[in-house]
Amino acid sequence: MRCPFCEDVDTRVVDSRLGSDGDQVRRRRECQNSKCGMRFTTFESAELAPPTVIKNDGSRQAFDEVRLRKGFKRALEKRPVETEKVNDAIERIRRRMIKSGDREVASNDIGTWVMDELRNLDDVGYIRFASVYRRFQDVNAFREMVEKLEKETMLGNDMQMQLLTGDDQDPLRKEYKKSLAKNSSDES
Ligand SMILES: [Zn+2]
Repeated sequence: MRCPFCEDVDTRVVDSRLGSDGDQVRRRRECQNSKCGMRFTTFESAELAPPTVIKNDGSRQAFDEVRLRKGFKRALEKRPVETEKVNDAIERIRRRMIKSGDREVASNDIGTWVMDELRNLDDVGYIRFASVYRRFQDVNAFREMVEKLEKETMLGNDMQMQLLTGDDQDPLRKEYKKSLAKNSSDES
């Protein structure tokens, strides 16, 4: 590390401390050139470049946080979830990606992480995302998922309301209506 004042390469660390969030080390250095002796600060942090995303068709693309945010936005449209909580969720996913240590992450894994986050944020958003993301092979798969959630008593009144009175364009409600139709034709 050259001294930024006299460009001498002989500098010494006189103080070293961890940044408040623990992600960064701050160092005070002193130039050892007797004619200079200036002090300066350096910051050291890990390079946290997000890995490449491998899509289902095998193609690769750079991780796109804007797209991820759009996914959350679509799932949580008109839902009472604070933007701050979505930001936290996105940050946790970003960290999960970095922590995985691989330079490449399957888009499927990211989808699963989004599901994990939505599950904690909002039941409706969770199933809405799942019904699009998993592209349920048939209505039974959707029904099974709803029933599984019901068993786990995750579905509150809120969820019931959304299913019964929600917007017909909502993919969640479309799936629900399909599954009802399927159900009644099974019984007849
Ligand atoms: Zn110097």
